[in-house]
Amino acid sequence: MNRKTSRREFLVSGAATAAVCVLGAGGATAADAARRTVVVWSEGSAPKKVYPDDINTVIADGLKKDLKGWNVVVANLKDPEQGLSDELLNKADVLIWWGHTKHGDVKDALVDKIVKRVKEEGMGFISLHSSHFAKPNRKLMGTRCSWGAYVGDSVTLKVTVKDPNHPIAQGVKEFTIDHHERYSDPYAVPKADSIVFEGVATLKDGKTDASQQGFAWQIDKGKMFYFQGGHETDPVFMDLNVRKIMANAVKWAAPVK
Ligand code: ZN
Repeated sequence: MNRKTSRREFLVSGAATAAVCVLGAGGATAADAARRTVVVWSEGSAPKKVYPDDINTVIADGLKKDLKGWNVVVANLKDPEQGLSDELLNKADVLIWWGHTKHGDVKDALVDKIVKRVKEEGMGFISLHSSHFAKPNRKLMGTRCSWGAYVGDSVTLKVTVKDPNHPIAQGVKEFTIDHHERYSDPYAVPKADSIVFEGVATLKDGKTDASQQGFAWQIDKGKMFYFQGGHETDPVFMDLNVRKIMANAVKWAAPVK
């Protein structure tokens, strides 16, 4: 009987696999179709000497190591459909966004689709550093999203855990990275459900400047996380602590299925 049951289960499983294979576009395997998807988008403006293939590639490399069972996809502003076809956007469980000098190039129609995916369909959105002024960031927040100051007078940034019980903080301890740009409080956004991380910039003159670093919100059906660190002339996204935060944030922001 056990043997018969096993055989039947095998057959059912095989049929399901075949069905997924048929449905999978572009030759995707059944395993690919079943996996969750995170899309890492950036605009291509980071200096080549720090990020030869831009920031999204480095973030994706970290996620591939930490996220088992996920499709990790890179998307670029210069790609067709600005990197986010309807098919890819609809498949994304989480979208990570790094922008800086090309916010204005992002089409409003694409921003509307992103906001809809987050608010109405639960896609997670992770916004990084200078993406505070990115169109999808501002539209999701509904505020100016300005910081108190932006000054290139810092040397290091110490990140500390403010909300140790938050899923994004799991396994993360205080750490310090080279960071040659500080943003000063306040960040003009709605009150966060959690300030997961805080930080202190040490300045060239030895003074310090404390600011909030990691913000988590529930926005209608979707989760959103903003991380302040990530200046493009520093290899922030190669840091193992930051990589841990990115992976935790993706798992936290993904909709429950
Ligand atoms: Zn910067």
